[in-house]
Amino acid sequence: MKKTKFHYECNDCGAHYQPNEVQYLCPVCAAKNTVSQPPKGVLKIVYNYKKLIENNIDFNSLNQNDFLDLLPIESIKNLPNLRVGKTPLYKQKSLDNTDLPFNLFLKDDAQNPTFSFKDRASAIVSAYAKEQGFDTIVAASTGNAGSSLAGICAAQGQKAIILVPESAPKAKLTQIVMYGASIVPVKGTYDDAFDLSIKATEEFGWYNRNTAFNPLTIEGKKTVSFELFEQLNFTVPDRMFVPVGDGVIISGVYKGFEDLLKLKIIDKMPCIVAVQSEGSNNLISNLDKEKFIVKSSNTIADSISVDIPRNYYMAKDFLEKYAGEILAVADGEIIQASGILSKNSGLFAEPAAATAFAGFLSYFKDQKLLDNSNNVVVLTGSGLKDLNSVQEIIDIPKAINPSVDEMKKLLIDL
Ligand SMILES: *Cc1c(COP(=O)(O)O)cnc(C)c1O
Repeated sequence: MKKTKFHYECNDCGAHYQPNEVQYLCPVCAAKNTVSQPPKGVLKIVYNYKKLIENNIDFNSLNQNDFLDLLPIESIKNLPNLRVGKTPLYKQKSLDNTDLPFNLFLKDDAQNPTFSFKDRASAIVSAYAKEQGFDTIVAASTGNAGSSLAGICAAQGQKAIILVPESAPKAKLTQIVMYGASIVPVKGTYDDAFDLSIKATEEFGWYNRNTAFNPLTIEGKKTVSFELFEQLNFTVPDRMFVPVGDGVIISGVYKGFEDLLKLKIIDKMPCIVAVQSEGSNNLISNLDKEKFIVKSSNTIADSISVDIPRNYYMAKDFLEKYAGEILAVADGEIIQASGILSKNSGLFAEPAAATAFAGFLSYFKDQKLLDNSNNVVVLTGSGLKDLNSVQEIIDIPKAINPSVDEMKKLLIDL
């Protein structure tokens, strides 16, 4: 058997499975899942860390091979011919002309091919589908996962079928169609689209990319941590601000650093702050509750508008195990943060991404960041994906006649 480099471990019951035994959730836990609760049985991918240590691998040797030893695919040749990940990390020295007493770094994942962090997951899922002989991949999405899968599949010559709730934002729907995917708008919510996509997967034998349901999504997303470690001169950041919806990005960030911890390449974990919108905070608001209570979401940050977080239990376990912190910010703060970010850095983020920056601003204001500490904000998607949400803080003036006087007047008025 070829694929012995990893096995699956159920996040909830701990059962182990070989890659040829399961594909999605732990079957034992999944059988007990109910529709109104977060799913149990999300699988974590475990590598042979002991063997890697015995072989004296270090970060550079892993990196030389694009981290193939820590990815659930056979060859990096099966990845798309696009630059996925390897995104810039910018140091932001000041805000509003005031020097910062700590180091602030912005990880610009809007620079991915389809302009969101989701490409990290789609690339690995797509490569795995190639290796396993699937030519059609299906996903339910509120927008970015779908536009990402559509773009990656276009680059790979694969067929993508994207189920979206009727209400998904126009730019993301446009991307899906432009990349040539089949789009299936579904009457109802993201959850309805999610359930239908799983039934369709069973019926038609396609491969399914749904976030968390497909364990490879977490593995794709973890690559951001490897990059950060390198970009920060082989150190672990002190604190990271990560926007949270279904809880897969944050779990990916943790998983990446945890892999390095298990390989003894690092000896501490970063403190990760899970930032949600107050209008959709079902992940952080349930952490201390016995039973998960679903509150329906209403937030401007559509990419993190989630009623039932699909990776709730894994994200919760990581946050508890590695002393993560949590924070909710209001829609108004998100939009203000988006403006502050753009004006100071030249980076325009969609509301979900600006949510992480709003979290940073809140910590800054409360003086919770130590001098000289290294702080990272993960900017997960481009502002061009959602122009509507920032209209309230901008003002595009009416056209003037081409005269210097009118121009003077306009600039004074502004
Ligand atoms: C999907 C997404 C998130 C949240 O990721 P989860 O894995 O759902 O927590 C944040 N920002 C953007 C732009 C996204 O597309």
